[in-house]
Amino acid sequence: MNRQDFPILDQKVNGYPLVYFDNAATTQKPQVVIDALTDYYRNINSNIHRGVHYLSQKATDEFEVARRTAQAFINAPSPQEIIFTRGTTESINLIATSFGKRFLHEGDEVLISEMEHHANIVPWQIICDEKQARLRVIPFDETGTLKMDEYEKLLSDKTKIVAITYVSNTLGTINPIEEVIRIAHAHHIPVMVDGAQAMSHIPVDVQALDCDFFCFSGHKMYAPMGIGVMYGKAKWLNEMPPYQGGGEMIKTVTFERTTYNELPFKFEAGTPAVGDAIGLKTAIDYVQSIGIENIARREHELLSYATEELLKIDGVKIIGTSQNKSAIISFIINGIHHFDAGTLIDQMGVAVRTGHHCTQPVVDHFGIPGTIRASFAFYNTEAEIDQMVKAVKQAVKMLR
Ligand code: PLP
Repeated sequence: MNRQDFPILDQKVNGYPLVYFDNAATTQKPQVVIDALTDYYRNINSNIHRGVHYLSQKATDEFEVARRTAQAFINAPSPQEIIFTRGTTESINLIATSFGKRFLHEGDEVLISEMEHHANIVPWQIICDEKQARLRVIPFDETGTLKMDEYEKLLSDKTKIVAITYVSNTLGTINPIEEVIRIAHAHHIPVMVDGAQAMSHIPVDVQALDCDFFCFSGHKMYAPMGIGVMYGKAKWLNEMPPYQGGGEMIKTVTFERTTYNELPFKFEAGTPAVGDAIGLKTAIDYVQSIGIENIARREHELLSYATEELLKIDGVKIIGTSQNKSAIISFIINGIHHFDAGTLIDQMGVAVRTGHHCTQPVVDHFGIPGTIRASFAFYNTEAEIDQMVKAVKQAVKMLR
């Protein structure tokens, strides 16, 4: 599906046609996004918001169009609630630091889940340490499904925020995020959603979800690296202190006192990634032209086929077998180290990821050092899955 839009896929690796199954780490970029970047640097490049000259105004206009496109994409109420960041990691660091400084006190609790990416663990640990608050963890069961009964039990008047992933990048689990938010809100607790693995697979409507914060990275949804979004309800963002100081985020500066700019600029210190934001806008338009439902349907077909075929191989075990899964398969092979298998699979042109995938607590849960992970995008094919299965079989034969 639309494979011809991705020129990078048309190459050989180690003498084999490239099979790119590392889409959860980053997706490839369609030609329209590459063209948008080139066009920006060829024709528009200028610093924004500060110049009266033509190029500066044009760059500013396009940057703000990108913001409104991101706003519409997640149905945020206002462009003021869309903060451009470098990606999910920076978005979560911003929220943890700024929300934490304002709202966390000694003895308070932050609730995350056992399946979080390190990007949604470490920033909270840092601020909890600083504030002498406590990080608490919702466990998952042996299939990789969140234990909702345990979740409810962990909520208390000490809980100041729930920060949780929509989709696990290692297990593929799609969490019942509406339910998670509904329950937290019944206790008057705000919820931050890590949407890094949800975008371009699941339609996101932050007003329908009613989440308080939502973070995502452009590069995992066909946009350039270096651009992401932090959505936050204005009622929180207005209360939170700035994350970084510098140009753009100020109204007035004297040596005695600085007053801060309005949203969203209060949280956008310094020169932003203008070209990348325009690339993000182009990627959003591209994804919408295909349709997220069509993308999800195709990826689900690939997930079902790959699951079936991998399980036919003697000794393969899938880690993450929740009912509701995104197109991510983590697996281990009995008696074979994931790194050795991954190296041999790569030699047959298949790009899979090996290791803990920045979710060390997830692999610890299963008592394993890591997994091999194949993650699909709509441009992948059944023939590529066959090539991976052949490579896995070959690796098993050589390593056993
Ligand atoms: N959260 C999840 C669930 C992820 O999968 C990732 C990246 O793999 C991140 C956060 C961090 O995203 P980034 O590296 O784009 O900041």
